[in-house]
Amino acid sequence: MLGRDRLFIGGAWVDSAGTGTIDVVSPHTEELIGRVPEGTEADIDRAVAAAREAFDHGPWPRMGPAERAEVLGRLSAIYAERQQAMADLVTAEMGSPALFSIFGQAAIPQMVLQYYTDLAASYPWEEERQGMQGPVTVVREPVGVVAAIVPWNVPQFALMLKLAPALIAGCTIVAKPSPETPLDTVLFADWLAEADVPAGVVNIVPGGREVGAHLVAHPGVDKVSFTGSTAAGRQIGEVCGRQLKRVTLELGGKSAAIILEDADLAATVEGFKMASLSNNGQVCAAQTRILAPRSRYDEVADALTAMVGSLTVGDPSSFDTHIGPLVSRRQQERVEGYIRLGQEEGAKVLVGGLNRPHDRGWYVAPTVFGDVTNDMRIAREEIFGPVLALIPYEDEEDAVLIANDSEYGLAGSVWTSDVDHGIEVARRIRTGSCGVNLYGVDPGTPFGGYKNSGLGRELGPEGLEAYLEHKSIPRPA
Ligand code: NAD
Repeated sequence: MLGRDRLFIGGAWVDSAGTGTIDVVSPHTEELIGRVPEGTEADIDRAVAAAREAFDHGPWPRMGPAERAEVLGRLSAIYAERQQAMADLVTAEMGSPALFSIFGQAAIPQMVLQYYTDLAASYPWEEERQGMQGPVTVVREPVGVVAAIVPWNVPQFALMLKLAPALIAGCTIVAKPSPETPLDTVLFADWLAEADVPAGVVNIVPGGREVGAHLVAHPGVDKVSFTGSTAAGRQIGEVCGRQLKRVTLELGGKSAAIILEDADLAATVEGFKMASLSNNGQVCAAQTRILAPRSRYDEVADALTAMVGSLTVGDPSSFDTHIGPLVSRRQQERVEGYIRLGQEEGAKVLVGGLNRPHDRGWYVAPTVFGDVTNDMRIAREEIFGPVLALIPYEDEEDAVLIANDSEYGLAGSVWTSDVDHGIEVARRIRTGSCGVNLYGVDPGTPFGGYKNSGLGRELGPEGLEAYLEHKSIPRPA
């Protein structure tokens, strides 16, 4: 049985104040594979007190960035060495296919940790400015105790986007993993201890939304960094607004992939395996609205149908698998609900549909809908599964209009033989990122959402700013 019967608080494994447990069930076998204590409000209070103590009186915020980088360098080296163990664990707990897992659930989180460790040396922590009335020293100080709340789809990636910049900034942290995926943080906690991250700097309390809400509203927390659904983000933003608490929100998306007239269709459709369907479609930035020029609509529909129809659906631990199970029965039923809805709305299933590929495990057939219009709910709402909506457009102007006609603004992509032109089209899309002939997230560049996809940015130097307060120290000329 994976997991632990204790919580990682104040640098030690301690008993939970409660008696509840979280059972982790394999999405592939539906068998129990792990168990952790279910955190309670009292556990959150204790974790916040530990983080508060480490911030107010401990060594971490008082070290220089170079010293903190030395500790994080050790953590990053441990992570790099054991990436495969982390990838295997995330695959076991939430069904991420092994091919994606090693990269998206382990290598990228480690790269993010290394990126911020390295950034410490070149980041302008402090500068002298000649102000209009005299010299001013501008310093960047850690924001304080950070609540990091993460979803289950990319649990280590979402955590590291918060933890790495917060730690290099000198903050201390209470992390709350999702109840679906608490096991990866147990492994990670052992690595924190091994790297000699001081006690109380990182505390971990798995639990559901009530426990999360208690953490968000806790007066001992200075900043909340949340990744999850837009609905939860809105509630969290309201609480933080009332308390004037700093907040970063990374929320949902409904990203459009615009296929231009001149696109190399074979390469484009191959690119969608990663851009639209990786992690079984459970990616916030998944390119799930496929916009095709009407002149090439049939050709695109055929190519997309052939590609999706050829995907291997099955055991996520096999490197031959493209699509594994969804995270939970609830998610399986939710995605199937959208497949039913698409049919009711008049869209046509080109491949996939409601036949489950396997009797056991929370599988859904990868599905492409044709004849979709952008006003259908399957084109407007986040499905969070392997379901694509193919939407025809008349000309480039129309494609940009459709892409931007969404409450979300997280990501997008443009597929074309003319990269310069692709960049021009990408500039017109109202999203926090928009790829050309790929979709990807780079640790060194900002990631986040326009519109209802969020508030603030993670990654890059911008992601570090989110954990810093700026202080000016003026003096007479
Ligand atoms: P969710 O919003 O239900 O839960 C996310 C996390 O927040 C969980 O840990 C949950 O326990 C906690 N939570 C929920 N309500 C809360 C509240 N009111 N107060 C405090 N904590 C609360 O989302 P989910 O179903 O776990 O994850 C899927 C969603 O996450 C999708 O909408 C997806 O787009 C989004 N997501 C966004 C990004 C991004 O970077 N923009 C990345 C990954 C996932």
